[in-house]
Amino acid sequence: RAKDHGRNNVQQYESVMNVHAVERLQLEKDLRKAIERGEFRVYYQPQIDIETGQMIGMEALVRWQHPERGMVSPGLFIPLAEETNLIVPIGEWVMRTACEQTKRWQDAGYPPIRVSINLSAHQFAQPTLVSKVRAVLEETGIEPQYVDLELTESITMTNVDRAISTMLELSSLGLQISIDDFGTGYSSLSYLKKFPIHTLKIDQSFVRDITKNADDAAIATAVIAMAHSLNLNVIAEGVETEEQLEFLRERRCNEYQGYLCSRPLPAAEFENLLASELQMRT
Ligand code: C2E
Ligand code: MG
Ligand code: MG
Ligand code: MG
Repeated sequence: RAKDHGRNNVQQYESVMNVHAVERLQLEKDLRKAIERGEFRVYYQPQIDIETGQMIGMEALVRWQHPERGMVSPGLFIPLAEETNLIVPIGEWVMRTACEQTKRWQDAGYPPIRVSINLSAHQFAQPTLVSKVRAVLEETGIEPQYVDLELTESITMTNVDRAISTMLELSSLGLQISIDDFGTGYSSLSYLKKFPIHTLKIDQSFVRDITKNADDAAIATAVIAMAHSLNLNVIAEGVETEEQLEFLRERRCNEYQGYLCSRPLPAAEFENLLASELQMRT
C-alpha cells in the first residue's frame, strides 16, 4: 500500500510538472510576441527624501498586460524572461520608455526627478550595454544625472573585475548606479568600496519587520551606517508604515520608497503626483 501510495504521489507530481511545463511553454510563446504587440507597460513608484519630504526619484517597474491573463506580475515573467534571454529586448524597451517619459515630464515643467531602471544580469553581461545606454541617453535627450541604473549584488559579484570596469564605463556617461535588494546577496564589503556606485537600496525583507524584529532592526541600522561611512546614499524599500519611516528617519536613512507614499502607478496617474509636487514646491 505504501508503494502504491508512493506511486500515486509520483504520478500526481508528474502531472503537475506537465501542467507547469505546458503553461510555461505557452507563457514563453506569449512573451515572445508581447514586445511586438506592445503589451508591456512601465509603472512608476516615487522615492522620497526623508528629511525634506520631497519626491526626488522614481523607480520604473515593468508590467505585462497579457490579453487573457490580465496584468502579469514581474515576479512571474521576469525569471522566464531571464531564462530565455527575452529580458534583453524587454529591458531595453523599459529603459528607453522610462527615459523618454522622464524627459517629457521635465520638458512639461514638472520638478526634475531621477529615474531608476532595473538592469538584469543578461543585460549587464552584454558587450553592447554601454553603447546602447549611450544611444538611449542621446536619442531621448535626458540628462544622464537623472538616470540611475539598479544592479543586484549577484550581478556585480559574478565577475567582479568585469563588473567594475562596466560600472566605470557606465558612470563615465554621467549616470548613477545603485545596488538593489542590498543585504540579500553576498557583496564583499571590500568590493563595495571599489564599486563606482551612488546608492544602496536596503531590501524590503529587512524593512518589513524593522520595528518588531531586533535582527532586522540591527541589519538595517548597520547598512545605513555603513552606507554613510562609505559616502553612499541609502534608500529603504518597501516602507509601509509611519513607524518604519520614523525608525529610518532616526537613523538618517536618506530616502524611502513604499506603499506608505504610493504603489507603483501607470504614467498618467503618476503625473498627478508630479503635479502635487510642483504645487508644493511653488
Ligand atoms: P525591485 O527592483 O526590488 O522592485 C521593488 C518591488 O517592491 C516592486 O515589485 C514594488 O512594486 C515592490 N514594492 C514597493 N513598495 C512596496 C511596499 O511598500 N510593500 C511591498 N510589499 N512591496 C513593495 P514589482 O514591481 O512586482 O517588481 C518585482 C521585481 O521585478 C523588482 O524588484 C525587480 O527585481 C524586477 N523588475 C521589475 N521591473 C523590472 C525591469 O524593468 N527589468 C528588470 N530586469 N527587472 C524588473
Ligand atoms: Mg529595483
Ligand atoms: Mg529592490
Ligand atoms: Mg526587491
